[in-house]
Amino acid sequence: MKSLVIDKKDLRHNIERIKKYAETNKEDDNGNKVKIIAVVKSNGYGLGIVPYAKFLIDNGIDFFAVSTIEEAIKLRQAGIDKNILMLSSTSIKEEVKTLVENNIIITIGSEESAKVADEVGKELNKKVRAHIKIDTGFGRYGFIYTQREKMIEVLKTLENVKIEGTFTHFSIAFYNKDEYTKKQFDRFINCVEVLQMNGIQTGMLHVCNSSAFIKFPNMHLNAVRVGSAFVGRLSFTNALGLKKIGTFKSNITEIKTLPKGFNVGYSNTYKTKRETKVAIVPVGYMCGINMQVGKDMYRLIDKLRYISNDIKDLFKDKSIYVDINGQKCKVLGRVGTYHLTIDITGKEANINDEVIFDINPKYVDSSIRREFK
Ligand SMILES: *Cc1c(COP(=O)(O)O)cnc(C)c1O
Repeated sequence: MKSLVIDKKDLRHNIERIKKYAETNKEDDNGNKVKIIAVVKSNGYGLGIVPYAKFLIDNGIDFFAVSTIEEAIKLRQAGIDKNILMLSSTSIKEEVKTLVENNIIITIGSEESAKVADEVGKELNKKVRAHIKIDTGFGRYGFIYTQREKMIEVLKTLENVKIEGTFTHFSIAFYNKDEYTKKQFDRFINCVEVLQMNGIQTGMLHVCNSSAFIKFPNMHLNAVRVGSAFVGRLSFTNALGLKKIGTFKSNITEIKTLPKGFNVGYSNTYKTKRETKVAIVPVGYMCGINMQVGKDMYRLIDKLRYISNDIKDLFKDKSIYVDINGQKCKVLGRVGTYHLTIDITGKEANINDEVIFDINPKYVDSSIRREFK
């Protein structure tokens, strides 16, 4: 049986570190602490949205954010009654209605979505809870930061909407290109000031994702939206001492001895260099082993960087290693869809012994069991 194991002690450690870091980075002007909004999209970064959200609640988190209606409804159906912010705005009336009926805080990011929200509020005889999204240079959701007059005009007419917050999202905070993030931040602050000067309530202000939260304490404002930091899987080394969450557990199903010079796996990329004792494990790409984000090749500079990395990689050991009975064992050949072959020559390894992999939970198929332990 396969499962994705989530170490509760490590996860608790990460939550505490993140809480402490948010606290030490000052209170706002009214003495309020910086609020942590836990982003639990993509099936809770792979941990399983419902058990993960419950674990966060047990550890003092009381505000969530999701990217889809399905995720929001799933949390409500599981009996979670905390604040839930839907990060994507929608101008589809049926969707807004479903969100409002479930007491989800919606995002308003356009004139059309504002009008729809107001209509829904009127029909349901309810004040619709909303955050305003400002697009400071991402090109996705949100009012474009330069179109202030339009925003003011639209937002002033809303009678059935309560603006509880205002936010933006950074496009490159994870990368060491800090100027663009600072530019986005300034655009946001300027826009918010103009809204406030024109009598629009902007509510709680939030801009930081995990990377910006860690790198730019001066940008914490009233709240931070933290996702990947909780699972300790960030694309840069962090000073918070966060632990990587997620190990994959399976078992050896077959053992055999291959002769010297024998092919292992698709595409014939590996041949045994000697007689080799191997273990077969029913785990592969479909379980998230050896998944990487696809290379995007839009700019010449990116292409050059990738080519340079590929050359460097030639000299690096890119093999995957697993743990069997505390021994480090190497995966041979290409990882298959559901299978892989491990060199166990000279190791203590038997049928049904546990095989443990380090894995980013977000790549693990949602059908695989999550085990919090
Ligand atoms: C995913 C997401 C976050 C969290 O990002 P992390 O880098 O995982 O912390 C925050 N805000 C928005 C709008 C998001 O889509």
